[in-house]
Amino acid sequence: MKFSDIIGNERAIERVRQMVDNDNIPHALLFYGEPGVPKLALALATSQYIHCTNRHDGDSCGECPSCLQHQSMNHADTFFSYPIVKKGERPVSEDFDAEWKRFLGEGGKDAIAEDYERWLALLGNTNAQPIIYANESDNIIRKMSMSAYTARFKVLIMWNADKMHPKCANKLLKLIEEPSDDSIFLLTTDSVKDILPTILSRTQRIELRKPSTQQIAEYLSSSHGIDMTEAIALAAPADGNVVQALRNADHGSETHDFHEQFVKLMRLAYMRDIAQLKTWSETIAGYKREKSQRFLNYASRMVRENYIYNLHLPEINYQTEEESQFSKNFARFINERNVEAMFKTFVDAAHDIKGNGNAKIVLFDMAVKVSILIKK
Ligand SMILES: [Zn+2]
Repeated sequence: MKFSDIIGNERAIERVRQMVDNDNIPHALLFYGEPGVPKLALALATSQYIHCTNRHDGDSCGECPSCLQHQSMNHADTFFSYPIVKKGERPVSEDFDAEWKRFLGEGGKDAIAEDYERWLALLGNTNAQPIIYANESDNIIRKMSMSAYTARFKVLIMWNADKMHPKCANKLLKLIEEPSDDSIFLLTTDSVKDILPTILSRTQRIELRKPSTQQIAEYLSSSHGIDMTEAIALAAPADGNVVQALRNADHGSETHDFHEQFVKLMRLAYMRDIAQLKTWSETIAGYKREKSQRFLNYASRMVRENYIYNLHLPEINYQTEEESQFSKNFARFINERNVEAMFKTFVDAAHDIKGNGNAKIVLFDMAVKVSILIKK
């Protein structure tokens, strides 16, 4: 992972780069920011930059033996610590080394998304809450007290440091307080408030911000070969969350399916075909709960997009080609008299289904409301 692979966050990258260039790296750095911003990716890129033997143009070279080791996730002086579930008597992150490498993906490319749900799936989707166990501290202390193998610095990357067991955090504290000269801790978190204050006060904090829609779209376009118009339509609803944007890209066929269902709902609602609306609501009720939520989010977004379509402001209108074709004739049905109520109808239905409401009843009720609103 190179700095140039990070989406947005030029300022955070510049700060880190200067620390390394000036040989003024703090013993503990904390990369923090909302879920879906590339904190883990920056930790990986930082470690690679620290170790690179041929840094140039403000980035690691990607070609020296050290960079190659980094890219194959086998750098001898880089260690990882991350939340896991209990496997044996003394649970440590290494128990899930193979899963971790799969999580990071080839060359670490999947770290850009750091999708916690995907990590849960790799851990076996247990109901247990993954944590960084107390035992982990002994493991870290042992690794960090050995001298570096090949590089000047040993780096420990701890992902989701807020999930550290307090015992682990307290033991680690000593190490962070009195580190050996060649130890660097790179911690990441979505939630600064859940980091033990004693740890927090000993780290230098670097905030990562949400990348812009344009930056995410450029990434989707280059990584997934999606054209820019489509990429912007996928990136915009993610609101700076890279994980969500990638899900949107991976759910491309789902979006198409949702679009068809949205079109069908609007046609039947316009015709006030109650019998067919009932069948339609049963189809959506047949989705898994999460999928029906995603559909309702999609539908509420389409209400917004069609309303905006009428305002002729293409720069804030985010639609796929298929969606904007439909809007040509449909958008006029979403107007200032019904836009708010229509939007609320979808949001309320999503809320009710999330709260374990009977999906068939909730969705049929919603469909009937739509059929009244669409004639307003
Ligand atoms: Zn290099």
